[in-house]
Amino acid sequence: MTDNEPAFGLETLAIHAGAGPDPATGARSTPIYQTTSYVFDDVDHAASLFNLQTYGFIYSRLTNPTVSVLEERVAALEGGKGGTATASGHAAQMLGLFPLMQPGSHLLSSNKLYGGSVTQFTRTFAKFGWQASLVDFDDLDAVRAAIRPETRVVFCESLANPGGIVSDMEALADIAHEAGIPLMVDNTMATPFLCRPFEWGADLIVHSMTKFLSGHGNAMGGMVVDSGGFDWGQNDKFPSMTEPEGAYHGLRFWETFGDLGYTVHCHAVGLRDLGATMAPLNAFLAITGIETLPLRMARHSENGLEIARYLSGHPAVAWVSYAGLDDNPYKPLADKYLGGSGGSVFTFGLKGGYEAGVRLVEGVELLSHLANIGDTRSLIIHPRSTTHRQLSEEQAAAAGAGDEVVRLSVGLETAADIIADLEQALG
Ligand SMILES: *Cc1c(COP(=O)(O)O)cnc(C)c1O
Repeated sequence: MTDNEPAFGLETLAIHAGAGPDPATGARSTPIYQTTSYVFDDVDHAASLFNLQTYGFIYSRLTNPTVSVLEERVAALEGGKGGTATASGHAAQMLGLFPLMQPGSHLLSSNKLYGGSVTQFTRTFAKFGWQASLVDFDDLDAVRAAIRPETRVVFCESLANPGGIVSDMEALADIAHEAGIPLMVDNTMATPFLCRPFEWGADLIVHSMTKFLSGHGNAMGGMVVDSGGFDWGQNDKFPSMTEPEGAYHGLRFWETFGDLGYTVHCHAVGLRDLGATMAPLNAFLAITGIETLPLRMARHSENGLEIARYLSGHPAVAWVSYAGLDDNPYKPLADKYLGGSGGSVFTFGLKGGYEAGVRLVEGVELLSHLANIGDTRSLIIHPRSTTHRQLSEEQAAAAGAGDEVVRLSVGLETAADIIADLEQALG
């Protein structure tokens, strides 16, 4: 499919975008190009590939035909210009930020984030000289006030993991753009089925493909998607995009590649030098999973709502944080950005605190106690004793992962069976 074809529906894109019959064999399913390297026609062909003058394959750290199909597919689903697949969601965050940041640059992020992202932003990125501040993004004045001259990006999750919190992306995009910087949205939990952040002004999207996009819980992966709409030349904040690149004979990415400049930089510099490449087998698994994304997300949302309603009425449950419930404070934002859905990952609090949380995750039988989300199977975790244990008490509470909090990722089983298992384990 090409840019010039009529706009297809999401279901069609999920099955066809980026893929056609294999030109060599006619294979209808995208083959796994399990190769590290590609034969050059001759020395001139090799030179033009290395100079980024010809599009083609050199070495699978940079590009691979199976991975390219996945990149095109996710870019199409998000309505973006280009995609860069990575080894994991965390690799996508590192790689996606890399063209924006320098030592001393500042990243302004919501404090309601996946726990691993809090650690990555505040501890590991500090070693690159990247500063991060985590702010309550419900307070838009606080967001505006936290922007510094060296801030290069505003970052949030569309639907935040684990708290069931929805970000006001349109307002955040306005704040970022007033400062001449992009809004990057982690759209892992919502997926393009529930939310398409570019339609609300976001400029860049990152995904953990490990979760709903693949949907089967059998392969790690990440993706960076560029809308192609951000004006990198409006100020001097983004030299990686606008200044000559020494390793490519002084080429300027934005000037040379236009709305694909960021995506080309992610491959030609980010993947080349940081090496966090997706394996072709994992790309194949993700492509296969994405074909059923719309069907799965619709059922995930239905089941999520049903389980959230059940828990809201349970005497052992203190509260349920599910944006799809009518009395939830984020319901208006869920109506605006997520078609009213709260997705299928959410938290609830147990009146019995930390001990009750541990008892529940150890008492379930159908549900799996593990650190993942977005699987066909229903998953449960007590964040404070697992994913959020490295955070300080304050950070954990700010991220919606206090002692009494349990997180569910509601799967695709029969809702009554999920409820029966929770019922026996809640005792
Ligand atoms: C899991 C997750 C990540 C990290 O992705 P990995 O594939 O585990 O590296 C980032 N953001 C969100 C919202 C996640 O759920």
